[in-house]
Amino acid sequence: MTPTFMKVLAFLPPYEGKVVLELGAGTGHFTGELARKAGKVIALDSIESVVEKNQSINGNHQNVEFICGDVTSADLNLAAESVDLIISNWMFMHHSNKEVEEIAKSLLNLLKVGGYIFFREMCSSESEDHKQENNTFREPKFYTKICKECHISDTSGKSYELSLVRSKSLGTYILDKESHNKICWIWQKVNSEDDRGFQHFLDNVQYKSSGILRYERIFGHGFVSTGGIDTTKEFVAMLDLKPGQKVLDVGCGIGGGDFYMAENFGVDVAGIDLSVNMISIAIERSAGLKCSVEFEVADCTKKTYPDNSFDVIYSRDTILHIQDKPALFQTFYKWLKPGGKVLISDYCRKAGTSSEDFAEYIKQRGYDLHDVETYGQMLKDAGFEEVTAEDRTEQFIEVLQRELERVEKEKEEFIRDFTEGDYNDIVGGWKAKLVRTGSGEQRWGLFIGKKEVMA
Ligand code: SAH
Repeated sequence: MTPTFMKVLAFLPPYEGKVVLELGAGTGHFTGELARKAGKVIALDSIESVVEKNQSINGNHQNVEFICGDVTSADLNLAAESVDLIISNWMFMHHSNKEVEEIAKSLLNLLKVGGYIFFREMCSSESEDHKQENNTFREPKFYTKICKECHISDTSGKSYELSLVRSKSLGTYILDKESHNKICWIWQKVNSEDDRGFQHFLDNVQYKSSGILRYERIFGHGFVSTGGIDTTKEFVAMLDLKPGQKVLDVGCGIGGGDFYMAENFGVDVAGIDLSVNMISIAIERSAGLKCSVEFEVADCTKKTYPDNSFDVIYSRDTILHIQDKPALFQTFYKWLKPGGKVLISDYCRKAGTSSEDFAEYIKQRGYDLHDVETYGQMLKDAGFEEVTAEDRTEQFIEVLQRELERVEKEKEEFIRDFTEGDYNDIVGGWKAKLVRTGSGEQRWGLFIGKKEVMA
């Protein structure tokens, strides 16, 4: 089995004992391997000779059903809600936009509620689709949009949709002198009426897609946090990253920091963020880059990883959203390998009682803020050693002023790309931040800690 196949298999959700539908199964690169763990594999391909070849290689597995057929055809005879996992490998690129849309709907129908669809496609970073023979290399955005807009209802009127789980860029592939990205996605079938609480708040209030792009304009390409690439370069330099190390970015946003670390230090980065909008943009941005970065829609307070998984846990201006910081820091400690480091930048507040205005601002945003010293102590209490807790408010103010000046200088361009209302919101927001920091109420902290080597 080639390293790429291993990577794909490792990326799949668990399928032990499950019903797996393999689309475009070909001569069965995955079929046999899937059959070893799955309850049942339905291996589908539209070319008769290919199906026969797969059967001759993998026919010894009793739990594989070989079908010659076309996913777009109505007479496939697979029952609604009968499949746990659908795997589609380089398939959508052979179909037209309209067909992809229809296939997505019929696949959603085949899935059990809670089931997953995995697909891998060759993508282009150009906004023009790039066609070669019968293949279309599309922007990743196309697939995100198709999946997000794919809705169906069952006979009882219940509606279902796809929710993004994770996405990974498996690096580039050079074809015809053009560089394409191999990108895979996993989406889950969910009930549209499910309550997705805080995630909905993030996606529909604080981080709407348009709002994210507006923020990005002021923070800089790829970033939704203080100082954009400049503070990223400064802080990442403190980590002494080595090629092959594993980095977890908690609240990765649209991935600017992850691409920077992966491209410049050869580390493997996993970015998690609870916002579907953030992760969707992050994966769009990975097209055209040579590094391999993985993004997952996940709540860092619920996500699990095996102990000792990462060399570095990195988190920029995110943990302000987390109420139970001590519990989160304890899990960070467990997820880190012995000798591993944590680096956090975060909004803080002054020690003592906050002003009424500031308390109101925190409440309205739903933030949980602490003073810099208390924050550092929480890391120590979680077990971290060599903890540094630096008040970086002065740097924060300089950054805010620079960002504000730049936006004001590029006012016309900003209004052309967004609206005058957006411009006023951003400028007003930044001025308010300057007032809050100027009065000493709002602070900004940088925190570093280490897990002991003999832990
Ligand atoms: N670190 C990124 C984004 C900062 S914005 C950057 O530097 O550009 C804060 C991010 O935290 C948002 O993307 C938000 O969706 C995410 N977030 C908030 N609560 C979260 C949670 N419980 N789990 C994971 N991510 C969360």
